[in-house]
Amino acid sequence: MSAAGSLEVDELVKLHRDHLWLHLTNHRAFESQEPPIMAEGNGFILKDIYGREYVDGLSGGVWAVNVGYGRDSIIQAIAGQLKKLPYYAGSMATPPYILLAQKLASLLPDLPKVYISNSGSEANEKSYKIARQYFSEKYPDKKKYKIIYRNRDYHGTTLGALASSGQQERKVKFGPLPEGFAAIPHALCYRCELGKCYPACNIDCARALETVIQREGEDSVAAVIVEPVTAGGGIIPPVAEYYPVLQEICRKYEVLLIMDEVVTGFGRTGRMFGHQHYAVEPDMITLAKGLASGYMPISATVARKSIFDQFLTELEDPTGYFRDISTFGGCAGASAAALENIRIIEDEKLAENSAQMGAYLLEGLKELEKYPVVGEVRGKGLLAGIELVEDKKSKKPLHETHLARIVAEAKQAGVIIGRMVRSVPDYNNVLYTAPPLIVTKEGIDRIVGAFAQALAHVKL
Ligand code: PMP
Repeated sequence: MSAAGSLEVDELVKLHRDHLWLHLTNHRAFESQEPPIMAEGNGFILKDIYGREYVDGLSGGVWAVNVGYGRDSIIQAIAGQLKKLPYYAGSMATPPYILLAQKLASLLPDLPKVYISNSGSEANEKSYKIARQYFSEKYPDKKKYKIIYRNRDYHGTTLGALASSGQQERKVKFGPLPEGFAAIPHALCYRCELGKCYPACNIDCARALETVIQREGEDSVAAVIVEPVTAGGGIIPPVAEYYPVLQEICRKYEVLLIMDEVVTGFGRTGRMFGHQHYAVEPDMITLAKGLASGYMPISATVARKSIFDQFLTELEDPTGYFRDISTFGGCAGASAAALENIRIIEDEKLAENSAQMGAYLLEGLKELEKYPVVGEVRGKGLLAGIELVEDKKSKKPLHETHLARIVAEAKQAGVIIGRMVRSVPDYNNVLYTAPPLIVTKEGIDRIVGAFAQALAHVKL
């Protein structure tokens, strides 16, 4: 890998300062600091334009690059398809879309109907629209449209997906948000919202769904959406009994269970899909990040055949089919990228590597619980977080400045780790790592070492 020349670096930095408006960024920071600009990647190693190398503990910043960087076979698959036919959308398919749908259906046989779009937010929006129209076709006299979500889960940036997200900090100043969404408690035992203790709690956080359905009106709820393991809300793997309870309530009230596997899909948690750690059978699943590992933007909403069948109406019926489109769902190169990406994940047994390396990572991070500021270490597979507190007894969240410092120190030590979006009002005081699934023991050692080195600097 070669770094950019110094003139080029200065130019890039100037242009960055002049023109960029980045995601989740207060640009004030760049008035005094050099902006981070990544230039190259190979495996799980990144190089920035200043010539520094890092272990990528974040898989491309937002846990997407599951197969790592520099995958020639994906690049060739994309280029080959673009030469043949880059794109066709609307009611016409392309061969890679068909093959991708077949592949996804083989991985998720109960959900054989595949709807392609571009981003995780969109995949979730589609699932809400499908759920709403499904019930409107099935019970034309009922208004079964509400979507229940869980506190701390995140489902996307568009207004519907945001309205169904349980992180208050992401919603402030964007209101009013659409109505028709209601929340249930999160599943984090460390800070139980209901003030209970597992296992005596009787999994009341899941049982709260029934209370919310009854409050909202039994016939008015269409779907529940959850992340199998909450990612951006603080790395929260629910206890084993959680999803069976949730599922039972969904079935009792004929509410569709949607699993948002935008982060947890494709090996991230040590199984091909995050929900496979639990005894649960979702009615729809949404997929994005690891679907093509960021080599192309693509997402999917996969559904039961019984849901799809509800949309098979008379040909003359102008509104009975799913009247929805996603222009770039027709990008054939993206489907080709996803297909090759999934082949790599399967052939290289990356879900298995994620399970093994994830266990090793968790073991290393658990050692850090000896630090007074480490409240709890949580994770599944290569998705792990450290909740930081002022002291273990009060569990008062460690102040923002310390979290920022730890991330900066780790970067200084050559490892990119992440900080959750700050919460208002309940602080999301979790640092996290989710390296590419090809990571080795040496890579994990560097990540854990950087956390340890950075934590040693925290002085209260
Ligand atoms: N669902 C989850 C669980 C996510 O973490 C994200 C993004 N981080 C989304 C949905 C939204 O995906 P996108 O940013 O691609 O719209």
